[in-house]
Amino acid sequence: MQQHKPQQVVVVGGGTAGWMTALICAKQWQGKAIAITLLEAQEIPRNGVGEGSTPALKRFFDWLEIPEAEWMLACDATFKAGIRFESWSGLATHPSYFHAFPNELDRRGEALFYQRCQARLKGAQWGCHPDDFFLASYLSDKQLAPKPEPHFPFLHSYGYHFDANKVAHFLQQKAPLFGVVHRYGRITAVESAVNGDIAALVLENGERMSADLFIDCSGFRSLLLGQHLRGQFQSYQDVLFNDTAITLATDVDTQQFYTCTTSTALSAGWVWRIPLTSRVGNGYVYSSSHISDEQAAIEFRQHLGVSPESEVRKLTMKVGRYEQQWLRNCMAIGLSQGFIEPLEATGLFVIQQSAAIFAKAYLDGGLSDAHRDYVNSRLRDMFDGIKDYIVAHYKTTSRQDTQYWRDNQAGLEKVSPSLQQLLASWYEGKDLQQEIARQNIAQFYSPMSWYSLLSGMGLFPSQVTTAPEADQALLELGDYYQRCCLNYANHVQYLEKLRKHHAVPNIFAAIR
Ligand SMILES: Cc1cc2nc3c(=O)[nH]c(=O)nc-3n(C[C@H](O)[C@H](O)[C@H](O)COP(=O)(O)OP(=O)(O)OC[C@H]3O[C@@H](n4cnc5c(N)ncnc54)[C@H](O)[C@@H]3O)c2cc1C
Repeated sequence: MQQHKPQQVVVVGGGTAGWMTALICAKQWQGKAIAITLLEAQEIPRNGVGEGSTPALKRFFDWLEIPEAEWMLACDATFKAGIRFESWSGLATHPSYFHAFPNELDRRGEALFYQRCQARLKGAQWGCHPDDFFLASYLSDKQLAPKPEPHFPFLHSYGYHFDANKVAHFLQQKAPLFGVVHRYGRITAVESAVNGDIAALVLENGERMSADLFIDCSGFRSLLLGQHLRGQFQSYQDVLFNDTAITLATDVDTQQFYTCTTSTALSAGWVWRIPLTSRVGNGYVYSSSHISDEQAAIEFRQHLGVSPESEVRKLTMKVGRYEQQWLRNCMAIGLSQGFIEPLEATGLFVIQQSAAIFAKAYLDGGLSDAHRDYVNSRLRDMFDGIKDYIVAHYKTTSRQDTQYWRDNQAGLEKVSPSLQQLLASWYEGKDLQQEIARQNIAQFYSPMSWYSLLSGMGLFPSQVTTAPEADQALLELGDYYQRCCLNYANHVQYLEKLRKHHAVPNIFAAIR
């Protein structure tokens, strides 16, 4: 890319996708003659949900050299050690399970966990509930921050909860440091070049913005990739039924400040509960083919224990992905490239990965077909890999109480061959770690995640009606984790200390 005048890149959209992408590209392309402008329509609001992350978000802020305390305090953020799944299994023996983010201290528990699960698959009546094998579930249940004291030097993976609008705003404020220019303006038309590439964007005020490369972060509208270039959309609706979400915030409760997202299965979907310092974010994600909006709102309010008059905000979700997320001179990132329902909070992770993979490929090869094909193929695999893990939650439940859950369990033939083989391998008692390695899919979800899901659902060939007795090895492991927990601070107190240290006014806005 030897250019005399800087290449012009326009990022369309100022949601989390637009800002994360703009900063990732700016940092990756530092020192190159590439000018980045982010354009957003002030009157078209950001999506605003997306309150939970995976551990990858820590790498994003670390890489940008933005201190954790600074952005966390600005975005009402809290720590997340994993996700607790409530009422997903349908088995009385498995009312809930924890999907933990791993850390160094888990090695002992992890090895025992795999060994137990494989033995249990062959009929041994050993305890192998995921909650017993990973530190994160202990930390969360005790409401501890996953930040060990300095004298306890072990590496931790953890995610965050945050106000997504505030994250976008925070990154917007950082943009000048990275040389990204910010502009407001609503796109009303898109002009094509003779070869079919995008030539320019036409704004409401008649201004024409031309560029060499356009990054479409316009949300579900997919203004450039979907609407203008007519990219082919691959829906996931045949295996993921949820297409609607309603949200409602409740007050912070510092007595119930678990270090996790809680996902509770209801009659036609599931509800997230995400504790921030300013509010608790709640959302019911459901299938509009199985429940009306009115019924869903009633069930949601009852679940939260709030007044029947409490207002909910409704969002419709387009679930699936574009076949080619980089088409011609347009790369789509964020909701415009595709979306998998937020059960494992992967939205920001996908944005971060997509932007990083794209930024590197563009630097290496510009608009070459080979680099475009490479990026498209990697992103297709990533989407489908994550989708399979999400689909597995619905295919492995034994809930029979509503048509929604019965429909979800049916149609196993519609799931991907990869997932069919994984599930077959588990049911046949084969070594699942080997199958994951054979399929090379640990990059999307690790064996720990797959074993946690399948054992957490109680998916063993010979079901037992009572939980097996804890044995010596499990008791010792429990004791080890209990003692590890002594080295972690209370979650609320940790955040309070952070606030005082940085002289920020009270962050727990509405304490109950
Ligand atoms: C119900 C739900 C729950 C979610 N939960 C999570 C979660 O827990 N964790 C997670 O990581 N992700 C989650 N996500 C995903 C996450 O919200 C999105 O990935 C993230 O918000 C990125 O959105 P975006 O920036 O692509 O789009 P948006 O936020 O919709 O931004 C679109 C931008 O495009 C601009 N725009 C649109 N049209 C025009 C135009 N004509 N001219 C100029 N500008 C325009 C708008 O002004 C706006 O700035 C969730 C999503 C949903 C729907």
